[in-house]
Amino acid sequence: MHNVQHYINSTFVPSHSGETFEILTPLTNTVIGHCASGQPVDIDHAARAARNAFDSGVWSKMKVKDRAKKIRTIGDLILKHANTVAELEIEDTGIPRAQITKGAIPRAADNFYFFADQLEALRGDAYTVNDEWLNYVIYRPVGVAGLITPWNTPFMLETWKVAPALASGCTVVLKPAEWSPLSASQLCKIMQEADLPPGVFNCVHGYGESAGAPLVAHPMVNLISFTGETTTGQIIIKNGADTLKRYSMELGGKSPNIVFADVDMERAIDGALWQVYSLNGERCTAASRLFLQESIHDEFVKRLAERVKNIKVGDPNDMSTEVGPLIHHEHWARVRHYMDVAREDGATILVGGDRPADYAKGNYFLPTLITNATNNMRIAQEEVFGPVLTVMKFKDEHDAIRQANDIKYGLAGYVWTNDIERAHRVAASLECGMVWINAQNVRDLRLPFGGSKWSGIGREGGELSFKEFFMEAKSVHLPLKPAHVPRLGG
Ligand code: NAD
Repeated sequence: MHNVQHYINSTFVPSHSGETFEILTPLTNTVIGHCASGQPVDIDHAARAARNAFDSGVWSKMKVKDRAKKIRTIGDLILKHANTVAELEIEDTGIPRAQITKGAIPRAADNFYFFADQLEALRGDAYTVNDEWLNYVIYRPVGVAGLITPWNTPFMLETWKVAPALASGCTVVLKPAEWSPLSASQLCKIMQEADLPPGVFNCVHGYGESAGAPLVAHPMVNLISFTGETTTGQIIIKNGADTLKRYSMELGGKSPNIVFADVDMERAIDGALWQVYSLNGERCTAASRLFLQESIHDEFVKRLAERVKNIKVGDPNDMSTEVGPLIHHEHWARVRHYMDVAREDGATILVGGDRPADYAKGNYFLPTLITNATNNMRIAQEEVFGPVLTVMKFKDEHDAIRQANDIKYGLAGYVWTNDIERAHRVAASLECGMVWINAQNVRDLRLPFGGSKWSGIGREGGELSFKEFFMEAKSVHLPLKPAHVPRLGG
């Protein structure tokens, strides 16, 4: 049985109230441990620890090469403990082993290596004016960073925020999602092994209302980097107004995948499948709306349906499993409910739509293909966040762009075509933060990551999360000869 505690000032502690909540595994929905349930008082302890550590300068003023070395050590320790992290993440989230070990964990270590490099490469611009002024920009860490993360690929997403925050010199209070506390607890152990100064990294577990909300409202916390649902983001922005928080918001998505008739159909099918069914469909950049050009629609759907039926659903521990159980039984019920919604609106559940016959226990859900849908249906407009793909038709380029953009979200977009000019036109016209042409979602850490419209505010990645979000730019002005100062009062 797991016993997960908060990590405050380099010490593992229970909640002040002693309160805990149960940790369930999605494989069977049985209790596999208990987790400390953070309350405002626990957040207050963590925020004060982080504030004291920041104000002492022990981290923010540490020599760059020493801080970068510590950050790289965290990356090394993630790789050293990769097996443990993988076991915990599979047990806690149901993500298939192959996708955790080949994707999420190496990427988590890379996050630390990458931001250590960013720290050493940090530079500010200088501007000279007529040989009279030297003006330059320096960057300073903002202060205490509150990081609030979701349950999908939790370890990778936590490190995606923790790494730039720590590299910048900020101190951290992390509030992981309540449905997936296990790998965050391992991250705390890694921080302890890396021997970070006390208070530099803190983690308080708990529910959004009792632990997340007080973190957002805490006056000692300077910024909030949040990843989660759009509706939660709206609440957070309101709750942080009194303390004037700086925000990065990575929110929900319902991304279009547009396939033109001129493509290699087999490759486009590979892309369509991977981009919605990998990570159990619980991925923010899922291409959950597939737009097919009319002339290839029937053939494409026929071949796609055969492949969807063949996707291997099962125990996520098995290296050959392609789709595992959904995170939580409440989430399973939500995804299942969308099947009724789709049917009532007149769409057809062509493949899947329910629990696999041989999995009575756990949160298993068949990869699902929905056809006869139109863009105004709820199944085409709302984020399901499961292995569910909705297929629609389009006439021409103009129609494809119009339908793809006719939605409140704007996180990612995918386009498949062999017409190079059209590919660029469509990429430029899609109202979203990121587009992939003839590819699945492969991302270079230097590029801006984030969404437009209801999918987010701001961008993470590269200098954007490091220098532009976790740091403040400060302009320094120096005259190179005595500057004229207008006299007042004689
Ligand atoms: P969620 O919004 O329910 O929860 C996210 C986090 O916010 C959790 O830690 C939760 O405890 C906390 N929280 C909830 N209410 C809060 C409050 N009032 N104040 C402060 N914190 C609060 O999201 P989820 O269900 O865990 O994650 C799935 C969602 O995340 C999907 O919508 C998905 O698209 C989105 N997501 C977006 C990205 C991106 O980069 N854009 C990446 C991954 C996931």
